[in-house]
Amino acid sequence: MQTTKVYLTGAGPGDIELLTLKAHKVITQADVIIYDRLANPEILEIAKDGCEFVYVGKEDGRHTLPQDEINEVIYQNALKHSIVVRLKGGDPFVFGRGGEEGAYLHKRNIEYDIIPGISSAISVPAYAGIPVTHRGVAVSFRVVTGHESPNKETSQIPWENFKTDETIVFLMGLHNLKKISSKLREIGKPNDYPCAVISRGTTKEQRVVTGTLLDIVEKAKGLPTPALIIVGKVVTLREQLQWFER
Ligand code: SAH
Repeated sequence: MQTTKVYLTGAGPGDIELLTLKAHKVITQADVIIYDRLANPEILEIAKDGCEFVYVGKEDGRHTLPQDEINEVIYQNALKHSIVVRLKGGDPFVFGRGGEEGAYLHKRNIEYDIIPGISSAISVPAYAGIPVTHRGVAVSFRVVTGHESPNKETSQIPWENFKTDETIVFLMGLHNLKKISSKLREIGKPNDYPCAVISRGTTKEQRVVTGTLLDIVEKAKGLPTPALIIVGKVVTLREQLQWFER
């Protein structure tokens, strides 16, 4: 019997050169690649001839296939192929549901490796010239789901803890930008508190809009996904550190 291995693999944020060597290796060897909507679909072009592609895409946290069906698709492919790559944007464990997929395979005795990827949470700000921490400006950062409406009564997000000057990165939050910016003002952040929206970061279509909690909604209108929101004083460092657009 042939041995099978599934690689739960991070594709990085978009720029194809931000793939890890390990991800690159398994992508070129894969018999099948099961992928989401990727910031850079060119990654699939490095697969070998005859590699099968299975799209199980999600957009903005909304699944076109429910997660349990995705788990089953991975499992079924593992029964048929020896090298299965499950490719996910950024890092598989940062809002990637890689843990659920790993647990599903574990239960069915399918071997897998995790290949971490460069998460958009830090690399997309970096390509916009925004460091998530900076001496004297921010001593910590958080990565928060923006998918959940801040008005949800049963929210698990500790909004009251966001009063400090730590940097907050919201993933999957563009459609909630208005609610997020009002919520942050409601908990006491000033209207002129710096924030930015970065769309399609690390790719040729990267667009960065900086503003304040008051005007960001208006300024970011029409920006395409994927996009993240970054809130914090570090945003102002972009004036000195912007490099990618140059
Ligand atoms: N596992 C991924 C995140 C999955 S959630 C990671 O580690 O990066 C998907 C969200 O990531 C998107 O809604 C968006 O907020 C963010 N994102 C991913 N790629 C991005 C990119 N190139 N530019 C801006 N935001 C991105």
